[in-house]
This record gives sequence, structure tokens and C-alpha cells, in this order.
Amino acid sequence: MTVPGSKSLRKIAVVGRGTAGSLAAASVTSLHPDSDHELHHIYDSRIPVIGVGEGSWPSLVQQLQKLTDLPHETVQQRLNGTRKYGVAFEGWGRRDQDFTHYFTPQQVSYAYHLSADVMADLLHASTRARHIDAKVLNISRVEDGALVEFEGLAPEHYDLVFDARGFPRELSPDQHIDISFIPTNIAVIRRCPAIVKDGKTGPVLQHTYTRAVARPHGWIFVIPLTVHTSYGYIFNRNVSSLEEVEADFDTFLETDGVSEFEQRAVIRFPNFVHRQIYDGAIARIGNAAAFMEPLEATAIVSAQLQIGMVLHIRLNRPIQHLERDAPVVNRFLVNNMLCYGLFVGWHYSCGSMYDTEFWRFARDRAWPQHRAATAPEAVDCAALAKFDEMMELLNQSVIDKADWDRMCAVPLTSYAQMSQGLGC
Ligand SMILES: Cc1cc2nc3c(=O)[nH]c(=O)nc-3n(C[C@H](O)[C@H](O)[C@H](O)COP(=O)(O)OP(=O)(O)OC[C@H]3O[C@@H](n4cnc5c(N)ncnc54)[C@H](O)[C@@H]3O)c2cc1C
Repeated sequence: MTVPGSKSLRKIAVVGRGTAGSLAAASVTSLHPDSDHELHHIYDSRIPVIGVGEGSWPSLVQQLQKLTDLPHETVQQRLNGTRKYGVAFEGWGRRDQDFTHYFTPQQVSYAYHLSADVMADLLHASTRARHIDAKVLNISRVEDGALVEFEGLAPEHYDLVFDARGFPRELSPDQHIDISFIPTNIAVIRRCPAIVKDGKTGPVLQHTYTRAVARPHGWIFVIPLTVHTSYGYIFNRNVSSLEEVEADFDTFLETDGVSEFEQRAVIRFPNFVHRQIYDGAIARIGNAAAFMEPLEATAIVSAQLQIGMVLHIRLNRPIQHLERDAPVVNRFLVNNMLCYGLFVGWHYSCGSMYDTEFWRFARDRAWPQHRAATAPEAVDCAALAKFDEMMELLNQSVIDKADWDRMCAVPLTSYAQMSQGLGC
């Protein structure tokens, strides 16, 4: 089969060796039809990867099998993984009832809970690339491609560059869409002993769920891996102090029967979507493209979509279409990231069992900003209209079968489960 774009995609760079960069490098290796293409995997070993990101969506199960060419069972075991069938919400919404957001079909479709660092190692084993350990100073669009400038090395020209350098240092309104209608901006991460039994002779088959537990200052995730259990307290540093949160974290672990933990990290994060994810020669992916707090584990699945779309379009469309395709792909990706953002922000719209400063802020001050933040004239795409359509469908007494497969980043079934659970 001829792949019309492969001739114009001879030399590719991936900058960054976190989850996003590692996925991109393995994807280029796997999807490029010509074995003589050149792939440079560039990263600065002095700049650490973020290293969290342990929840995923079902598409990752298929993709890792394809990229590694290993059986699912082996992949799961290598990842120290468990099978995630959904997210179990505790204390969220106005119903005063715990509920689960299942992947669809319920109890069949599963994703992984995984160790992020081992996933990168697994992907490196399936990547054919020249590795360059150097600091990148600048990536810019030039005639027929992109130029990467290094510290201490000569610049290189590429046909396509994946920029996976992680969070931007600061947000600027002309480059980034601020989605801080999502009310959190910092996480405290702790690691505790494993609560699932390691499957010594095979993968753990037990159904597991990410727990998302509402707390007075935000919420806590609990992610069971075979080697440890990961806990993270997600909150807003302008509303609650670190001391208050650490104290409530201690109380939570005590009630959960966890007597020992290792303090791992305190991570500040922005909630944003880059306006220019793809321009034809540079593709921002992972945390460089967009980020929102991890309530629905949307980061890895977003990186999968960004990488998949860009490679698909570059490989399958003749180069003459590049300038016309790029804005279309960019709008599609921005739209999708914003839809994820709206889905996640909406989780806060009905508050929780706590009537605290954080939950009043989240429900009454942060979430109401979502309409202005995603107004079509501000973001040049129709994410808000798509989200509103989902809300309208949920309000109908009968949902027409023709609408069952509708999506706004996630399927209607996810919206319906959340709406039932939250009471909104
Ligand atoms: C608290 C928290 C929980 C999370 N939980 C989840 C989850 O459950 N599920 C999920 O999908 N995601 C989750 N995430 C998101 C997670 O961060 C991402 O999935 C993932 O780690 C993507 O990171 P990245 O590869 O984009 O960037 P990073 O991991 O930051 O990697 C950046 C890479 O770029 C390199 N680099 C940076 N600057 C330069 C330079 N100038 N020159 C050369 N190299 C450079 C670095 O060396 C590094 O290799 C979570 C995030 C947080 C903060």
C-alpha cells in the first residue's frame, strides 16, 4: 500500500522523554512505513519527567499491545498494572450517594492503572531512534519544516517535530486558553503499600477502580498498582494551605487504615489548552499541548489522540494539502481538549457533601466562568456548543437511538453516568 505522505516525512524529531514523548517516538517507529526514515529522540536528562500519570482510558490497552507487539497480559505485568474499569466517586454531587463512572461497555472495557516510569521504558524498547541528550533552546517553524536549536550542538532541520517538553513555564493569553473554571491547581502525592495482590503467575484479573474521594479541600485519588498504591490530594493553593491539606490527608489515610506512606512530591499545575497544538511542522503533545487536573485521567489519552491525528494526517495526505490540513487538525485537537476540560469542570458544578470554602469556590465562582472561557469567539471552535448539546440530551425524557453514540470528547454514556451520580 502506498502512503502518500511518507516521502515528505523523512526526518522526525521527538523532544521530551516523558509519557507523551515516549508514546510519540514508539508511534513513529511503528507507523512509519519506510524503515530508512530518521528519528531523533531528544531530551535533557537534567530535566526530570513529571512521573505521575497512573490512570488511563481503554484505548491505551490496545495501543500498547500494538506498539510493543507483546500480549496484553505481559504488558499489564510489565506496567505493574491493574485493570481499571472506571472511576469510583465518593462524596461528590448533591445526591449524597457514591457512584461509579464505568467505561463502556460496563464491566467489559478496561484501561490500566500503571507505573508511568515503566511505561516509558517499555515504549523505549519498541523505539528505533538516535538518542540525543541535550537541552533544546528553541523550536521554530521554517521553510519546509521546523528548526530545533540546541545548547552546545548545531541546529537541525526536521520535516516534523513533536514538542513534548511538558508544562509551559507560564501562560500567556495569546498562546494559551486558560481553563481555570477547573478549580484546582496543585497536588500532593504520597505512595503507600500495595492493596491488590500481585499476580505472581499472571496478571491481576480483579476489577479495580480509581477512587476519587471528595474531601473538604478538594479530592483524593487512590490508584492501586501491584507494587504500591498511589494517593494524591488535589486542591487549590489560593484557597487552602498546604498544612491544612497535609493534616486532612493524614486523617484520610488513618480512616482508610493506611499506617505508612512515602511523601513523593508537591506538583503545581496549570489548567490550559494551547491555541496552536499543530501548525503543520510542529506538534505540541502531552502537557505541552494541554493540561487539566487528573480527575478523569485525560492526559495520556489526549497525548494518544494528538500523536495519532498528526501522524495519520502527515502519512496519509499528500504534502500539497499540508497548509490546508494543519488548521483543520489544530481546531479539531483544541476542540477536543476543551471538551475534556468542560467534562472535567462540570464534575464540580453540583458541589459535594462538603459545604467548605473550596467547594463553594469550585461550584459558585470557578465553574460559572466556563462559558466565557470557551466562548466560540475566544477559542475559535465549537466545544461549548457540543457540551451544551450533551446537556440538552441529558435533559430529554427519551434519548433517540440515533444520539446514543454522540460524543463530546467522551461518550454520552459517560455524561449520563456522571449526571445520574452527581444529580445534575
Ligand atoms: C497530580 C497529577 C496526576 C496525574 N495523573 C494522571 C493520570 O492519572 N492519568 C493521565 O493520563 N495523566 C495524569 N497526569 C498527567 C501526566 O502528567 C501526563 O500524562 C504525562 O506525564 C505527560 O507528561 P509529558 O510527557 O507531557 O511531560 P513530562 O513528563 O514533563 O516530560 C517532559 C520531557 O521533556 C524534556 N524536556 C523538557 N524541557 C526540555 C528542553 N528544553 N530540552 C530537552 N528536553 C526537555 C524532559 O527532560 C522530559 O523528558 C497527572 C498529572 C499530575 C500533575
